[in-house]
Amino acid sequence: MHRFLEEAKALEQEIIANRRYLHEHPECGFNLENTCRFVMDKLTEYGYRPKLICESGIVATVGKPGSTILLRADMDALPMEEINDLPFRAKGNMAHTCGHDTHTAMLLGAAKILKQHEAELNGTVKLMFQPDEEGTSPTGISGGDAMVSAGVLEDPKVDAVMSQHITSGTMHAGELGVRKGPLLSSSDTFEITVEGVGTHGSQPNLGVDPINVAVHIYQGIQNLIARELAPEEQTALTIGCLQAGDAANIIPDKAKITGTLRATRERTRAMFKTRIEEISEHCAAAFRAKADVKFMHGIPSVYNNPELTEELLTYAEKLFGYPCTNMESPLNNSDDLSVISQLVPTTYFMLGCGTEEEGYCYPHHNPHVLFNEDVLYKGTALYVQSAVEWLNHH
Ligand SMILES: [Zn+2]
Ligand SMILES: [Zn+2]
Repeated sequence: MHRFLEEAKALEQEIIANRRYLHEHPECGFNLENTCRFVMDKLTEYGYRPKLICESGIVATVGKPGSTILLRADMDALPMEEINDLPFRAKGNMAHTCGHDTHTAMLLGAAKILKQHEAELNGTVKLMFQPDEEGTSPTGISGGDAMVSAGVLEDPKVDAVMSQHITSGTMHAGELGVRKGPLLSSSDTFEITVEGVGTHGSQPNLGVDPINVAVHIYQGIQNLIARELAPEEQTALTIGCLQAGDAANIIPDKAKITGTLRATRERTRAMFKTRIEEISEHCAAAFRAKADVKFMHGIPSVYNNPELTEELLTYAEKLFGYPCTNMESPLNNSDDLSVISQLVPTTYFMLGCGTEEEGYCYPHHNPHVLFNEDVLYKGTALYVQSAVEWLNHH
């Protein structure tokens, strides 16, 4: 067994205990007071001097001046109830159904091991524990953005970034998936307000029906996927909400459409945003109505730097003794590490914790989702190995 795997395995009970504490005490968004206190106390106990650089954003460093690699974990839960029969089940209306409790516990384990090897480190390891990955904050500014604005990539300047996400239901326990180039999708929410002229249902000619316009806009937008996207490219465009009217015989004066756009290429993302505006405005004009298109705060796609990823996956294979899974296509979900991945070379791994056959039947964000604690020490070892080996070569 590789020495870091052995050291992480020896720490397994502590990693699991930390995870269970966090799981039982979930907090959301930027309001991670108790979680932050727990993480800061642990880091202090391990010999660090952690700093709070913004609301619930923690940074700690270990090593000596030189090249710097950042290891990142997210700490936030989701505003939902957990429906599981676990002794450490979250009680109340928040739950770690995305597994960020495991990420925080794995990185805490890595922090402890890295501190024990501080003299061997050929540069600096920066640990980043972030709030609000899920973007549940009403400001629309996610935790990753807030930490970038607060300077997480500076002083010392970060040269490379590594992160990982536990995956329940679709990957074998201990399987490590990665992909060079785009890995996860961008995510943009948009809102289209169609302004017509209300009138009696028996006299449509006297008004401008916004429902009719909204239906044309809906169809026009869906045609973007069929007619303006390269067949080999992957993009999802969903209208999840279409609201208008209150009664059978009244033509309302407004209709509202809200949807989400997911793309894996920044060029396509920008093009689709422009086309959604054009189609909405022109469809509305064609029927004598007006359309106003608003894009809320969005996040880009997580981009895995090909050279860094090739390098880190070699170290991962050396650590585990088996090959990484090369993920053929990007996933349609998102992660706000994307912001950082567009600024600094980044590698983001997917760490499998069991398929349906292995007993992990529920997807993330489901109240029944379970995470296999047997793989946590592997995630810890992967953090350590990535940092130590990368610093040895840069
Ligand atoms: Zn999530
Ligand atoms: Zn997540």
